[in-house]
Amino acid sequence: MPVIWHILGAGSLGSLWAARLARSGLPVRLILRNDARLADYQAQGGCLKLIEDGREQPIAISAQTLASDEPIQRLLVACKAYDALPAVQSIANRLTADAEVILLQNGLGSQDAVAAALPHARCIFASSTEGAFRPQDWQVVFAGRGHNWLGDQTEQPPPRWLSELSDSGIAHEWSGNILARLWRKLALNCAINPLTVLHDCKNGGLLDYAEEVSGLCDELGGLLQACGQSEAAQGLHDEVQRVILATAANYSSMYQDVAHGRRTEIRYLLGHACAEGQRLGHPLPRLNQLQARLIERLGQRGVRTD
Ligand code: NAP
Repeated sequence: MPVIWHILGAGSLGSLWAARLARSGLPVRLILRNDARLADYQAQGGCLKLIEDGREQPIAISAQTLASDEPIQRLLVACKAYDALPAVQSIANRLTADAEVILLQNGLGSQDAVAAALPHARCIFASSTEGAFRPQDWQVVFAGRGHNWLGDQTEQPPPRWLSELSDSGIAHEWSGNILARLWRKLALNCAINPLTVLHDCKNGGLLDYAEEVSGLCDELGGLLQACGQSEAAQGLHDEVQRVILATAANYSSMYQDVAHGRRTEIRYLLGHACAEGQRLGHPLPRLNQLQARLIERLGQRGVRTD
């Protein structure tokens, strides 16, 4: 019997994973917050609607609440970084002794917090360049094809269930250095997203602030070296430039969160970079100033600053 994929966080990315796994015939359970969310899901037909290449496909998936007592052997955590720890804690008593927990959160900091709270589980970190959004509840648009890197900090071999991702069409690779992947993505985010909020512009608007971007890249490169992530530091500035050009017409995810009054993941992105600098005694004047300006701007816009 294949192991059940329990998906905690039926948002954009969680729904995208759940829909593809279920579509390939694997057993999947959505874990919803409460009875009201479960009742709403069931009233809408008990299925997720996956919109891919303009076509909508309903995919029936069983759902349950946090309060269910079904044991969990494999858990995919697809909440925002700030929700991951409390969400996992609320179902920790359901995890089996050999549980594996896959963490899809962007940034850094939330994964270690979850791993520390679950000392007996194998925690696997993931970094995704796929894109998804929810036009409405229980509907998900696969907006950007990308790739998923997974890895952990143990010497254990890659999990056997990676073949289930292949069977489900989920592009992935086992990474021998997942922290370098996560740090690199964090650094790209720090060099681009906060500035788009502060300058109120699309990513391409940063071409007018080349010196500011360049200064941040220098500092981020130094921080990555200081953290022992020299692999993640290589060619950072060039990649930032490439991303700005390739996504010139897009609004960054942080820009969109602020525009919609949603909480951002600042604490796990720029906040994590600044905290690591402080922990290591590595000065980061530009990044610290950027963080202060961003927090001030979030406050002015009435968005949570943590
Ligand atoms: P999202 O759409 O906001 O989904 C998060 C989901 O978690 C929501 O459905 C939320 O439920 C649920 N949740 C939070 N706490 C919960 C709890 N205690 N119990 C049950 N459900 C809970 O977020 P997302 O865009 O999928 O992002 C998830 C992570 O993936 C983030 O770290 C993000 O940076 C990363 N990521 C996203 C994308 C993307 O394209 N979306 C791409 C790469 C990486 P409610 O709906 O009830 O609030």
